[in-house]
Amino acid sequence: MADPVQAEAGVAVFIGLGANLGDRKAALRDALAALGQMPAIKVVRVSPLYGSAPVDAGGPDYLNAVAELATTLTPQALLQALQTIEQAAGRERPYRNAPRTLDLDILWFGDRVIDTPELTVPHPRMAERAFVLRPLADLEPQRVDAAALQAVASQDIHPLEGSDWAGLADPVR
Ligand code: AMP
Repeated sequence: MADPVQAEAGVAVFIGLGANLGDRKAALRDALAALGQMPAIKVVRVSPLYGSAPVDAGGPDYLNAVAELATTLTPQALLQALQTIEQAAGRERPYRNAPRTLDLDILWFGDRVIDTPELTVPHPRMAERAFVLRPLADLEPQRVDAAALQAVASQDIHPLEGSDWAGLADPVR
């Protein structure tokens, strides 16, 4: 049984979610539901959904969002949890930047700076990606400045029609 009180006392973490194969909305919804079921994780807020053309990659458009979590996990344990959820979603990696059923990235882990072979936080490519910065700015406008958004303004990204999770089951609060 989840212990939201414990997780709420944890660190504020922002993760990026993306999917561009299969039922993309279901993949993001299921990932959030799986995260929310973990005892040490609470899903605090979720951004609106965006559609984006793949960057440096082929395949159909991505569906993207950013979520704020509260967690008592270590960064490495959270990364493992994200990778387990990615694998459960059937992600295969036939080649670099291949289309993927589900991609989960740690963007910020509190104010931690991490540089290990497995994990770099803040995420090293987030500043180049409109599909990260736009939904992140929806949640944390004070931490994503106008210049950063302007730098990625030419990228093809659009709020999803309706731009929300309407009709989806609970994980969104
Ligand atoms: P990708 O295929 O783009 O999802 O990259 C996954 C790899 O990036 C994994 O092997 C992770 O160990 C590594 N990685 C490094 N930093 C991060 C991060 N901040 N969030 C998620 N994965 C990361």
